[in-house]
Amino acid sequence: MSSSLLKENIDLESKGLISRQQIKAEIKANEAAGIRFSVNGSELVPANVDSISSTQRNTVLSNGVNTICLTEHFMAGAALINLNHVDVDLSDEELPFGDGSSKLWLDLFKEKNLVPGEAFNSSLSLKEEIKIVDPEKPHRYIIAKPSDENFKATYLMDWNHPKIGKQSFTWQLGVNPIEDITDARTFSTEMENQMLGLSGWIVGITEDDFTMPLRFADEPSRHKVLDLIGDLYLSGINPLLIKMEIISNQGGHHLNSLLAKAIREQNI
Ligand SMILES: [Zn+2]
Repeated sequence: MSSSLLKENIDLESKGLISRQQIKAEIKANEAAGIRFSVNGSELVPANVDSISSTQRNTVLSNGVNTICLTEHFMAGAALINLNHVDVDLSDEELPFGDGSSKLWLDLFKEKNLVPGEAFNSSLSLKEEIKIVDPEKPHRYIIAKPSDENFKATYLMDWNHPKIGKQSFTWQLGVNPIEDITDARTFSTEMENQMLGLSGWIVGITEDDFTMPLRFADEPSRHKVLDLIGDLYLSGINPLLIKMEIISNQGGHHLNSLLAKAIREQNI
């Protein structure tokens, strides 16, 4: 296995969404494959599907002792530069939130000249098609098909809202710039934001508008593609190294995690 892209430790300090405190993150190279998290030097929590303890609103990992919240935007950023063989030690049980996208991480990686190089010239391919359907809401599903091309993902959204409605967004590795997804922020209903005291921090959806100007008209769908990539990295393989085409029809963290599990079971 190749060594880490990381040649020196990198640090970041930024506010956490849950604690509202500054969170310190120290990213260190490690011989072991994959990505692992710890809290103040505690026992490591491997970033894989076996560690998932919740997929409600965000993807939470746990080893039974420590819990790591909001892993998906970091994992997506890590996948996009093919960061591997690293341990991330945090000062609290969550990743820094930034602006709700992966921009915080990508800016840091860029500053440290971390670029994936030839890593994405991969010949891994999905062995057979996978379809994951939400049993309670069967209109929500994700399909992953083997492909001859680089990783490609489409998100189909359907919200009964004048500024959202039916929208779709497709992103393909090597075709579309990574900023098309890394800068797309998370969103939530303004009512929920107010309840959680997050008004003005997370893009809020009101009855007929958004509480902040959007960066892209289809920013919500783009963010869903970002979440998908971050969650699929929990398969243990960077999903961007696998030639496959994914279509997510209103999927979220739960379906993403089931797809990550199914990909891992293919032993690619
Ligand atoms: Zn997200």
